Amino acid sequence: MTEITTTLTRTPAARPADAALSFGKVLTDHMFMMNYTAGKGWHDPRVVPYAPLSLDPATQVLHYGQAIFDGLKAFRGPDGQIRLFRAQRHAERLNKSARALCIPELDADLVRRSFEAIVAVDNEWVPHAMGTSLYIRPTVIATDVMLGVHPSATYTYFVICSPVGAYYKEGVKPVRILVSDNHVRAVQGGLGEAKTAANYAASLSAQLEAEEAGYTQVLWLDGVERKYIDEVGTMNIMMQIGDEVITPPLAGTILDGVTRNSCLQLMRDWGLKVSERKISIDEVMAAGRDGSLREMWGTGTAAVVSPVGELGYKGEKVSIGNGQTGLLTQKLYDSIIGIQYGTAPDAHGWTSVVKVPAKV
Ligand SMILES: *Cc1c(COP(=O)(O)O)cnc(C)c1O
Repeated sequence: MTEITTTLTRTPAARPADAALSFGKVLTDHMFMMNYTAGKGWHDPRVVPYAPLSLDPATQVLHYGQAIFDGLKAFRGPDGQIRLFRAQRHAERLNKSARALCIPELDADLVRRSFEAIVAVDNEWVPHAMGTSLYIRPTVIATDVMLGVHPSATYTYFVICSPVGAYYKEGVKPVRILVSDNHVRAVQGGLGEAKTAANYAASLSAQLEAEEAGYTQVLWLDGVERKYIDEVGTMNIMMQIGDEVITPPLAGTILDGVTRNSCLQLMRDWGLKVSERKISIDEVMAAGRDGSLREMWGTGTAAVVSPVGELGYKGEKVSIGNGQTGLLTQKLYDSIIGIQYGTAPDAHGWTSVVKVPAKV
C-alpha cells in the first residue's frame, strides 16, 4: 500500500465557532497533495501544511481549464465519531471526471485514503453542532508550463477542507427557480457528466440573470431542443407528479450526483415508483397548473435537498406545494442526515468512520 507521509504545521490557526461558519471561507491547517509526471505516474502522496500554490503564469490550467474537482463531507455525530459519506463513490467519480478531461486516472483507493488522511490530521476542524460538517474538496489541475493546447503531461492533485455551517439554519426552505431558455449548461458529447471548472464558468451569467429577476437558481433545459429538464443550478433535479417520482436519466449531460443516487435508492427501498426518464418543461408546467406536480427538489452534497417552491418559465409562474417543503422532500432530507450523523441505521454501508489519531 502506498505510504502517505505527513508534515504537520507549526502554526495552527484559530478555529471559528460553529455558529460563525458559512460555506467555504475558512480553510483548515493542512492539505493533501500528490503529483503526476508522465512516465512516473502519480507519486508522493502527502499531507502538508496548508499553503498557497506557486504557479508559473503560463501554467496550462490557468489558460485552458484542464481541471476537475469533487466535493464530499465529513460529519461529527452525537456519538463523537467522524463519518465520511460515500467516500469511495466520490473517489470513483473523480476518475470519471478525469477521463472526460484527459487527466490520468488516480488510484480510487488512494483517493479515498487521501480523504481519510486529511480528515484524520485536521479532525479538530470537524465542527460539532448538528447540521455543520467539514467540506472536502479534492481537485486536479494541469500544471505543464505551455501555451499550446494539448493535454498536460504533469498534474497536481490536492485536497483542501473547509468547516461549513448548517445549510438550513431555520429548517428546510423552498426556493424560487427560473427556467432558463436562453442559456445552456451542457450538451451531449460535452462536459456535463464531469465535475469540471468549465461547467461552473458556463453557469454564471444565467445564474446572475436569475438573481436579477428575483430567483435563487436556474433550471436548465437540454441544449438542443430547449425542451427537456436537465439540472437545477449545480444540483440534480427530481419531482413527484401524481404517484411517480421522476428524474432525468444519466444520458450524457447530467452529473451522476451521489445525493441523486442516494435519494433514488432510498425511494426504491420505500417502494415508491421511481422513473429515470426524460421529462419536458411543458409536461412539468402542465402538471404545475393542474395540481399534480406535488413536489420538486434539487439534490446535492451542500444542501442534501433543496425544495422548489415556485417555477418561472416564459413569464408564467407555477407554485409548488403552496411554497412549503413537501413530505417526501423532508423525509429524504431527514433520512440522509440521519445516516450521515450516525443517528439512523446505515443499511447500505454508505458511511465510513475516520480513525482519529490519539492526541499527544
Ligand atoms: C456536484 C454536482 C451535483 C451534485 O452532486 P452530489 O454528488 O450529489 O454532490 C449535481 N450537478 C452538478 C452539475 C454538480 O457539479
